Amino acid sequence: MRRMTLPDNLVVLERGWLSSNNIVFLDDEPAVVDTGYVTHLDDTVRLLDAALAGRSLRRIVNTHLHSDHAGGNAGLQARHGARTFIPPGEAELVDRWDESRLSYHHTSQQCPRFRYDGLIHPGDILSLGGEAWRVLPAAGHDHAMVMLWCERLGILISADALWQKGFGVIFPELAGVAGFAEQAATLDLIGQLAPRVVIPGHGAPFSEDDGAVSAALAAARSRIVWLSEDPRRNVENALKVLLAFKLMEAGRLSRAELAAMVDRSLGGNAAMRAHLPDDPEAVAAYMAAQLLRVGAATEQDGYFVATT
Ligand SMILES: [Zn+2]
Repeated sequence: MRRMTLPDNLVVLERGWLSSNNIVFLDDEPAVVDTGYVTHLDDTVRLLDAALAGRSLRRIVNTHLHSDHAGGNAGLQARHGARTFIPPGEAELVDRWDESRLSYHHTSQQCPRFRYDGLIHPGDILSLGGEAWRVLPAAGHDHAMVMLWCERLGILISADALWQKGFGVIFPELAGVAGFAEQAATLDLIGQLAPRVVIPGHGAPFSEDDGAVSAALAAARSRIVWLSEDPRRNVENALKVLLAFKLMEAGRLSRAELAAMVDRSLGGNAAMRAHLPDDPEAVAAYMAAQLLRVGAATEQDGYFVATT
C-alpha cells in the first residue's frame, strides 16, 4: 500500500511503540520528522542511513517533544549537525532543559538534551520533499503537539493525535488541565481535512482507499467520549501505558521499581493522585495485575518481564 500511496521521496521508517515512526524526506535538504527513543538510536541511525543513501541529514522536525519522538535528536545532531525545528509550546523548557516539565522525569523516561534552531508555528508552511506541508495544531495528547498536512497529496502526519487504533494518552488531564475537548477538536480538524493517507506516530500508514481513515476517526471519536465520561479511565490507561513503555525499555522490572515509577507519576500529577489515592505499592500491584491480565507482561522470579 505504501508504495502506491506515498511519493518516492517520502520514506516511512515504521518503528514500534518505544520509538515513534521516523518520516524521511529526500530532497536538497533531507529531513526527518521525529527521531525515536534514545535506546534505539543505533537502529535509528542504521535505518536512516539506508534511507538517506549517502546523503547527509540536514533537518530534524519534531511533532512534539515526548521521549519516543525526540530521543534521537541529540544523537542525530551530533552525527549530522542537522538543524532542528520544534513546535513553540515547550521551547522555553528546552532552553533551560526542564526535565520535569518536559515530561521526562514524571514518566521515568530518558531524553538526552538537544538544542533547537527554529520553531514551527501552527500555520507555517514547511517545504519537505518538494511539497508544501502546513503545520497544524494538535492539542489533546500534548497541547504543544503539531501535525503536518500536505493538501496537494492529501497526506497527514498525525503524530499521536490519531493512530489506526486510538491515539496517545491525554496527558494534560493527568495534571488537571482540560484535554478531552481539545482532543475531540483535533479529531474534528482531521475529519475536515479528510486525508487520503494518514502517517501516524506509531503503526503503519493507513489510507482512505479502503476506508481506514474514516474507521480510525470514528473509533477515536467514540474513545474520547468513553474516556471523558470517566476520567479515571484515562488515568489508569496512562499508568498502564507508562509501565508497559518502561517494561519494553528495561526488559524487566521489580515490584519496587514499578512502585517507584508509580510514585514519581503520581507525585507530578495531582489529578492522577486524586483518582488513585492508595499508596504507590498498592497502585503498582493493581496496575501490574492488569498488565499480566492483558498479556503485556509475565511474572518470573519476582520480576515483571515484558512479553514484546
Ligand atoms: Zn507523544
